[in-house]
Amino acid sequence: MPPEGQAADNVTASTASTPTSARGGKITPARAQYLAMKRQHPDALLLFRMGDFYETFDDDAAVVAEVLGIALTSRPMGGDGGRIPLAGIPYHALDRYLDRLVAAGHRVAIVEQTSPPGKGLVERRVVRVVTPGTVDAGSLVEERAQNWLVAASPVRAADGEERWGIAACDVTTGAFECSIVAGAHLAGEWTRLRPRELLLASGAPHPPAIDDEVLVTERPARGFDPARAAEVLTAALGVASIDSFGLEGMDAAVGAAGALVRYLEEAWPGALGHLRAPLAVREQEHVYLDPQTRRNLDLFHGRREGEASLIETLDRTQTAMGGRLLRGWLGRPLRSAAAADARLDAVEAFVRAPIARATLRRSLRAVGDLERLLGRVRAGTANARVLVQLRLSLEQLPALREQAEAVGGAASGLAPSLAGVVEAAEAVRTAIADDPPAEVADGGTVRDGADAEVDALRALTTDARGALASLEAEERARTGLPLRVGFHRVFGYYWELPASQAAKAPAEFEPRQTLANAQRFRSTALSALETRILGAREQLLEAERAVVERVRAQVAEAGPAIAAAADAVATLDVAAALAEVASECGYVRPELADGGALIIEGGRHPVVERRLPAGAFVPNDCVLGGGATGEGADIVLLSGPNMGGKSTYLRQVALCVLLAQCGSFVPADRARVPMADRIFSRVGAQDDIAAGQSTFMVEMVETAAILHNATERSLVILDEVGRGTATQDGLAIARAVVEYLHHRPGGTPRTLFATHFQELAALATLLPRVENRSVAVIEEGTDVVFLHRIVPGAADRSYGVHVAAIAGLPRAVVARARELLRELEAGASASSAPRTKASAALQPPLLPPTDPFVDAVASIEPDALTPLEALQRLYELRRDARRILGTDG
Ligand code: ADP
Ligand code: MG
Repeated sequence: MPPEGQAADNVTASTASTPTSARGGKITPARAQYLAMKRQHPDALLLFRMGDFYETFDDDAAVVAEVLGIALTSRPMGGDGGRIPLAGIPYHALDRYLDRLVAAGHRVAIVEQTSPPGKGLVERRVVRVVTPGTVDAGSLVEERAQNWLVAASPVRAADGEERWGIAACDVTTGAFECSIVAGAHLAGEWTRLRPRELLLASGAPHPPAIDDEVLVTERPARGFDPARAAEVLTAALGVASIDSFGLEGMDAAVGAAGALVRYLEEAWPGALGHLRAPLAVREQEHVYLDPQTRRNLDLFHGRREGEASLIETLDRTQTAMGGRLLRGWLGRPLRSAAAADARLDAVEAFVRAPIARATLRRSLRAVGDLERLLGRVRAGTANARVLVQLRLSLEQLPALREQAEAVGGAASGLAPSLAGVVEAAEAVRTAIADDPPAEVADGGTVRDGADAEVDALRALTTDARGALASLEAEERARTGLPLRVGFHRVFGYYWELPASQAAKAPAEFEPRQTLANAQRFRSTALSALETRILGAREQLLEAERAVVERVRAQVAEAGPAIAAAADAVATLDVAAALAEVASECGYVRPELADGGALIIEGGRHPVVERRLPAGAFVPNDCVLGGGATGEGADIVLLSGPNMGGKSTYLRQVALCVLLAQCGSFVPADRARVPMADRIFSRVGAQDDIAAGQSTFMVEMVETAAILHNATERSLVILDEVGRGTATQDGLAIARAVVEYLHHRPGGTPRTLFATHFQELAALATLLPRVENRSVAVIEEGTDVVFLHRIVPGAADRSYGVHVAAIAGLPRAVVARARELLRELEAGASASSAPRTKASAALQPPLLPPTDPFVDAVASIEPDALTPLEALQRLYELRRDARRILGTDG
C-alpha cells in the first residue's frame, strides 16, 4: 500500500462530525473523501489514486477485478475493523486497463492527487471521466472510423410527426455534425454512425431503434434547451454567434449540440479545443439508406462469412483520413447531381493523370493521421514523439501540393489548402530532436541549437568544468587578477587569490575563508553558476518541457490551417483511390441527371466481379424508367432459375446508382443515372437468413415501408418478395405490390423485381409499364448452363430440379423429381383448368381497393371545394389516370 494512503488512513478523526460507516463504526478521511466523490459519479467506476496505485472499492472493485481479471482483495477502512473490497491497478498501467474497462462499456472517473503527499489527507479531484464516447486512444478508436458521441433530442413539432435533433462529435478527429432526422430514419442513422455513447435528457423518451449495446448517459434536461445551447456553443467554439453555422430550423439539434459540449466540459474539457464548427447536415440532401439496404448491398460488411463488402473492394485510400472520408461518402450518397459531379470531377482528374496520381499516392503513404495527431496536440496530451509524427506528415504537404497541381483539373483546386502549415512543421523541426524519447525525463528531447537556455544547461551538465574555466577566464580578463576557481565541500565553489593580491579583490567579492597564503571569496556570478551546475539536470528537463510546451502551443495555434489541410488530404486521397479502382477495374464516369431513364450498359457487380476470374463476370445492361420518353419500363420483372444471377443483377444496378451518387465512377461501359431520392431494397426471407431475419413478418414490414415511402424518384429493388410464405399467398402479395407501385399517383419508382414465380410474368401483358426479363439459360441434354445474361422475356421454366442436381442431391432423387415434373407438366397442359392454384391470382387485374388512385378519388369532398379547386383536382386526377395507363406526355 502506498505510504500516503496509509498515512491518511491511519489518521482516524474522532470529532463528532466524523462520518460513520453503515455498521456504525468511524471511517477514515480518505474513505469519506472517496465516498463523497462516488456520490457525485454514482454510475462511474471510480479509479482513486493512492500513491502508485489507482484503487477501486466496494462494488466497483468487484466489477474491475472481474473485467480485468485482477485480484479482488480487501482492506480495513474503518475504525470498527470492517473490511472493504478492493482492487488496484498500478499507475503506469492505467492506459492499458482503462482501455479494457471502457471497451467493456464502462464509464470510468479518474481521481488524481492534486496536492503533494504530506501529512494528513491529500487533496483529490476527478480529472477526467472516460467513457466509450470520450476515449481518445485504445481499442475503441478505429483507424478508419469515427468514434461518435451522439446527443439526441426529440423535436416538438406541431404536425405530430416524430423527428429528432441529432448532434454527433468525435473528440479524436474533431468532427461535429448536427441534423434533424425523421424518427423512421433513426434505425439507418444508428447503423451509419454506430454511436459509442448516447446522451439523452433525463426523463426524456429513448429514441427508437437504438441498440442495447450503446451506453446511454442521461443528462440534465435544461442542457438540451436550444437557447441555452447557443450560448454554450458560442463560448466553447469561441465565436460571436452560431448564426454562420447554418443551423436555422434545427433547434432540437442545436440543443443536442449544447448538451454534448456541456458534457465534454465536465468529462474532458481538453477535447473541446479540437471540436470543429458544427456542420449542418440536411436530411433532404442525402439518400437515406435503411439498415436492410445497407446490409443487402453489402456496403460495409459482407453478409456471408468471407465475402467482401463494397468498402473493402473500393478502399484504396492511403491515409486514415481518406479511409474515414470514403466511409462517410458511401454511407450517405448525395441527391444533388451538382454535388456528386463536383466529386466526380476530382476523380476524373485523377483518372486522366495516372502518372501524377501514382506519385501523389506515394506521398500520401507518408502522411499520418493529421486529424488525430492534431487532436492530441490541442488536448495537451501530445508528447514530443507525437509532435514529430505530425511534423513528418506536415512536411509532405508542400510536395503533395505540387503533385495535386500536376494532376490538374479539380484536383488542383484542393492544392491551396495544403499551404500554410509550413510554419507549424518548421516550429517542430527546429526545436524537437528527430527521434525524441517518449518521456522528456529521459532527456534529449530538444534539438541542439534550438534554445539558448537548453543549450546552456545541457552544456553545463556535460561540461561543468568548461563552464567554470570560461567564467574564470572572463573574470581574470575583467579584473586583471590571477583568479582561480576551487570547490569546497561545505561552501561550494569559490574564487581564490594569493594573499598578496587579496586586497585588490573586486568589491562584490565576499570573503569566505582566509588561508596562510591565500584568500577565498564568493561572488554572485559564481553562486549563480554553482546553482546552475548543481540544478542543471533538473532545470534542463524543465527547460526541455517548456520548449515542448511552447512548440505544442505554436502547433495548436496553427490548428485551423492543419485541420483544413487534413480535409484537403482526405479529399485528394479518396478521389485518387476511386480513380485507382476505376482505372484498374474499368469503371466509367456516370452521366448524372435529374430525371429520365436509368441506363446502364455493360454493368457489372463491383464485388462479385472481383471474386471471379478476370473476364468471367458477364456484363448486363439495364434500362429503367423514363416514362414519357418511352425509353424503358418503370418496372422490370426478372424471372429465371435459382443461381441464374438475378440477385447479383439487382444489386449491381443498385450499387451502380449508389456509387454514382457518392461521386464514384461505376462498373459499366456507360451509365446514365437519374439522381434517386431513396434506394430501397428488400430481399425475400430465405435469401436473408444470414441476417437472422427469416420471418415473413419482417419481410412484410419492410415491404410496407417501401410502398409507403418510395416516390417516382426512388430506386426499388425487390428480390423474391413474397417468398417467405405459401406459394399462393406469396404470388398474390407479389402481384399486389407490383400493381400498387405501377399505379402510384405521383409516378412509379424505378423498380426491379426478381421472382421465381413464373406466373407473375403475365402481369407484363396487363400493365403497360411492366416488362419481363429473364436470366438466359441453355439446355444441353439434361445439362443446363447458366449464361448469367439478362434477356428480354420471361423464363418459361424454373430449372429447380437442375439446381438440386448441382447441389448434390442423390442421383435417384433427381431422376425421380424429373419424372414427377414431366407428369405434372403433362397433366397441366391436358387440362383446361388453371395449372396451379397460384394461377388464380392472375385473373385480369381489377384495381385493388387499396389502390392509391381510388383512395384519392374517394377522399374528395366536393362540397368543401371551390369550383376552381374542383377543376384543379379534376386535372390532377386525369394526369394520374394517364400516368397509370402509361399515356401521359
Ligand atoms: P439468383 O439470385 O438468380 O439465385 P445469384 O445472383 O445469387 O442468382 O447468382 C448466383 C451465382 O452466379 C453468383 O454467386 C455468381 O457466382 C454467379 N453470377 C451471378 N451473376 C453473374 C454474372 N453476371 N456473371 C458471372 N457470374 C455470375
Ligand atoms: Mg437470388
